[in-house]
Amino acid sequence: MSDKYVYSFGAGKADGTGKMRDLLGGKGANLAEMTRIGVPVPPGFTIGTDVCLYYSRHHGRYPGGVKRQVAAALKKVESIMGTSLGDTGDPLLFSVRSGARFSMPGMMDTVLNLGLNDRSVKGLAAAAGGDERFAWDCYRRLIQMYGGVVLEVEGEHFEEVIAKVKKKRKKKLDTDLTADNWKEVVSAYKKLIRSRTGRAFPQDPHDQLWGAIGAVFSSWDNPRAVTYRELNSIPHDLGTAVNVQAMVYGNMGEGSATGVAFTRNPATGENLFYGEWLPNAQGEDVVAGIRTPMPIRPRADSDLPSLKEQMPAIYDKLERIRARLEKHYRDMQDIEFTIQGGHLWMLQTRTGKRTAHAAFKIAIDMVKEGLIDQEEAIRRIEPAQLDQLLHPSFKEKAERTVLARGLPASPGAAVGQVVFSAADAEKWAADGRDVILVRLETSPEDIGGMDAARGILTARGGMTSHAAVVARGMGKCCVAGCEALEVDYKKKHFKVGKKVVKQGQWISIDGTSGEVMSGKVETSDPELSGDYHTLMKWVDKTRRLKVRTNADTPEDSRVARNFGAEGIGLCRTEHMFFEGERINAMREMILADTEEGRRAALKKLLPMQRRDFEGIFKAMDGLPVTIRLLDPPLHEFLPHEEDAVKAIAKSLKAKPSEVRRRAKALVEFNPMLGHRGCRLGITYPEISEMQARAIFEAACNVSKKGIKVFPEVMIPLIGTEHEFNILQDIIVRVAEQVMKRKKVKVKYLVGTMIEIPRACLVADKVAERAEFFSYGTNDLTQMTYGYSRDDSGRFLTDYIESGVLRGDPFQSLDIEGVGQLVELGVKLGRGINPKLKVGVCGEHGGDPESVTFFHNVGLDYVSCSPYRVPIARLAAAQAVLEESRATWRDR
Ligand code: PEP
Ligand code: MG
Repeated sequence: MSDKYVYSFGAGKADGTGKMRDLLGGKGANLAEMTRIGVPVPPGFTIGTDVCLYYSRHHGRYPGGVKRQVAAALKKVESIMGTSLGDTGDPLLFSVRSGARFSMPGMMDTVLNLGLNDRSVKGLAAAAGGDERFAWDCYRRLIQMYGGVVLEVEGEHFEEVIAKVKKKRKKKLDTDLTADNWKEVVSAYKKLIRSRTGRAFPQDPHDQLWGAIGAVFSSWDNPRAVTYRELNSIPHDLGTAVNVQAMVYGNMGEGSATGVAFTRNPATGENLFYGEWLPNAQGEDVVAGIRTPMPIRPRADSDLPSLKEQMPAIYDKLERIRARLEKHYRDMQDIEFTIQGGHLWMLQTRTGKRTAHAAFKIAIDMVKEGLIDQEEAIRRIEPAQLDQLLHPSFKEKAERTVLARGLPASPGAAVGQVVFSAADAEKWAADGRDVILVRLETSPEDIGGMDAARGILTARGGMTSHAAVVARGMGKCCVAGCEALEVDYKKKHFKVGKKVVKQGQWISIDGTSGEVMSGKVETSDPELSGDYHTLMKWVDKTRRLKVRTNADTPEDSRVARNFGAEGIGLCRTEHMFFEGERINAMREMILADTEEGRRAALKKLLPMQRRDFEGIFKAMDGLPVTIRLLDPPLHEFLPHEEDAVKAIAKSLKAKPSEVRRRAKALVEFNPMLGHRGCRLGITYPEISEMQARAIFEAACNVSKKGIKVFPEVMIPLIGTEHEFNILQDIIVRVAEQVMKRKKVKVKYLVGTMIEIPRACLVADKVAERAEFFSYGTNDLTQMTYGYSRDDSGRFLTDYIESGVLRGDPFQSLDIEGVGQLVELGVKLGRGINPKLKVGVCGEHGGDPESVTFFHNVGLDYVSCSPYRVPIARLAAAQAVLEESRATWRDR
């Protein structure tokens, strides 16, 4: 820890810079940077994240020197503003806000109007031209926020006070309340605080300041902040900074306003200023969604007056700042501004969250505009965002009954059953149901339910409301501010005019058009834009890793090829055995007790397998296709129902009791470690023979028709080189026989999966004959950790929550352990055969972080499910760009 804890900014000078995000948090670093580049920022200071960590580890104590440095920084602000904290004539008031390294919208606490007390409230009224109403409203807001954040009095008690005063004074809206009414509220608030906490609301502004600073630091550890970090993979040991900044007011009557804006449209990416404002309001009024905000520029979807029309000079200034910010930050910004008595102040700028569609458009446009280069454009797209692009939309011709229309807050199409609370959304989703979460507006407490829902629909709030911002971040379809909705939480229904939609009824929402429709509307797969294709071309030029797909059918192969798959990395042949008739033949095969009986059943399976392979080879014309021999434990195919037992008995000409006996004999205690993988082919070579025959007959047949085939036959689950060698001999023998008979030569490889830890350790021996390795990281993870793939869900969540594991190792590769085995296997294998082709076909092949690792250890390709192919391509390109920065060991 250095001795400097407090960083001042204001009047064009700042101690910090935009690069100091770790220490000053995103907000603090930006305030410093904005000040430096000459944007009008109210002065203030930032207390670093190191103080938060110290505070948290030392039970609320501060490191020595902090108090002195805060006092000095306060003096600087006072001198810039020409007034002081505690001044009763023209009081200097402050906002105290959190600001972590990563943006965590609405997750931590804020106190505004700090510095007001019974005396200075009068001074504020005078400074605001005698506007007592404004001053007392500010004071009650301070007590309310301070009461909630610092003194931990629940918000609903404050709401009750306001409701009581309104009732007594016969007023409907907050805006109807007069100065005297707010005075009444203030005095009731003070009583409330005394009765709830046993202490008075502090009148000394310095006590208020330290109370607020401590509360913001403590808020880093509050449950919703912790949940948000878990959902967004943000580490818990970063801490938050505290930003103390002179307040400026958007609610000082005429000529005052507040707004939030994006420097480009965050939904479409269009290069047009996009935002919302409210006259005579404070910042939180815009985002809280309580009043419907107005557009800053005239917009087709709103007939409310725009800022451009109402305050043209301020709007022009804002446009110039917009250009300056984009030029400086070279990215789309999300800004907050306040206009106080005709003077424009910028409160915040940060990189704006955007939809995947917008991300592509903005990245491509910025390359064209010369703001960034192609490499930077590739870095700008988050692999997870691609998921959004691949989301469905409603079929154009699908029948729809539009109930209402709201704001198109986050694109996509969602169909689900209506629920009215986040808790219900989580519960129903856990039962496997698709739900749409319908709320008046959302708040940070709803995060879990929003995550569980297919889509989110709110009755209030704008494009920058909590629901809109969070949904966009999650890549989730959202329609916000659908004012026609009358939501009744108690009755669990919403009404649109006379139409009532009850909990559990189906609706469809279109986050791209804002439409809310009754029933289930048919969806269709997404179309990828020109910007997507342009960027993916750059991606393909950049990456070294090839990307293949895991596909078992011609249809899946085609989908994957359209997504850019460069071959099949894993065709699981067992999936073909479950369809219709085939399962019977398969059962006959495993329950036959002689080789002859097995061969008779396999004969039935051969033509079916051959047809499947022909289809896949055709779909992948010109690309390699890795086909894995039968892998799962035989018990997966055993008959359970009596009908199936009888049918098999008939085919086998055996008694049902005999079939039952044989089936029972095949039951294993631990099938995943039992008779499966290459062990099947070694004990029943006729199975491998049949599969090899089907592969090579199919290859020869399609090859004769001019299709280019490159079969790669893969042996699963080997642990010794002998297992591999035995099966390789069978495959080569059958391949040569078939090709001779068919008079066609097909180039092929025989390789193996590496998915047992022992195979990694003896990879050099295996590589003497194996022509390729493909890591099966699913089984490798299972066997390295000793966690069952099927049962570990029961404890993994606890393990992750309690910090035993960083994340689910079946989702993102455990680089430290399993990764070491992968790296060792590559080294040993390539030591024997430097040209050994090595890939991965476990689920990790589509996980961006794991893809980076596979790139770094020199794999040739990753293979993943069709919809994740674009994500893997992008992650592979980003891995190349990251390479120059660090190796995975350094990170
Ligand atoms: C693996 O184990 O990683 C693999 C791809 O095979 P499966 O998931 O079929 O066991
Ligand atoms: Mg496996």
